[in-house]
Amino acid sequence: MTQTFNINSIVRDSVKALKPYSSARDEYVSDGSTMIFLDANENPFENGVNRYPDPYQRSLKAILSEQKGVSETNMLLGNGSDEVLDLIYRAFCEPNQDNVITLPPTYGMYKVLAEINAVENKEVLLTTDFEPDVPAILAAVDEHTKLIFICSPNNPTGNSFKKENIETLLESFNGLVVIDEAYIDFSDQESWLNQLEKYPNLIVTQTLSKAYGLAGIRLGICYASEAIISILNKIKPPYNINQLTQQKALQRVLNEDAVQQEVIQILEERANLEQALQSLEFVEKLYPSDANFVLAKVDNADKRYQQLLEKQVVVRNRSTQPLCENTLRFTVGTPTENKTLIAILKQL
Ligand SMILES: *Cc1c(COP(=O)(O)O)cnc(C)c1O
Repeated sequence: MTQTFNINSIVRDSVKALKPYSSARDEYVSDGSTMIFLDANENPFENGVNRYPDPYQRSLKAILSEQKGVSETNMLLGNGSDEVLDLIYRAFCEPNQDNVITLPPTYGMYKVLAEINAVENKEVLLTTDFEPDVPAILAAVDEHTKLIFICSPNNPTGNSFKKENIETLLESFNGLVVIDEAYIDFSDQESWLNQLEKYPNLIVTQTLSKAYGLAGIRLGICYASEAIISILNKIKPPYNINQLTQQKALQRVLNEDAVQQEVIQILEERANLEQALQSLEFVEKLYPSDANFVLAKVDNADKRYQQLLEKQVVVRNRSTQPLCENTLRFTVGTPTENKTLIAILKQL
């Protein structure tokens, strides 16, 4: 069915017809030479940020392209993944007509964005072992289903989904499959980036908010076919990635070793935390994690959450999510924070 996939048949008519805003910086970018820019009504006095930023973030994309092995024409950057996901909704889902499929328990933003965009969100629960229920998902697809959101490694459960399950969806669904890889850097599973050429209906999103330690600057990345990226480029705000974010992100991605060192430490700490949680009497089940957090089923989540709060430790109570009754999600902290957490847990 993949072979019949045609992006033009799923893009919104209004987006197809759109002629994007052409900004001054679309026409000329400074090459550091002696050009005089009098085209954008900026204040000419130099202070580091008096000029509009590059609307296509060329320097940053060049490095990412090298590191990820994906061409710059297959990338779009957003103000966090949240902006990227919102752009995907706005490009492909007609309000009050189209629908998407999400797989709870999962990241809450897919649903919120569906509501904001007046798009129906069809929820198909994961199986009890936290895998996509492929037959149920395919049964939920109708002529107005445009997107399926897959979060792998999944938040809050922590597991990566089986490759075969995702493959079946990519091959059987004639809309877009969005794979959110916010936690991929903590996983030893292969990224779906390597499959972009094989699947024209695949979108992969990543972020600098987790492993890269830059949640504060807001930088999300969307990888997809050139056809999909050019549609998203048409509708994105021209200067969606500010200058400070572009600079900071560039510095950080150039310092790959530092990022890698922190990831290694976080993974060591995750193992320590898992071991400690496992030994606690009130922990009934610990779910295996491919991310920088662990989900634990406890005897009484509300009570344990409150006890931790009294000790100044804030975790996430995920009990209201389906299949997650009495669960707490622990983000892996620094070695010192984890030592404190573990000491407190042992006293409860
Ligand atoms: C944290 C997280 C993100 C990150 O979103 P940003 O807007 O890039 O900070 C995306 N997806 C999932 C599943 C997450 O848990």
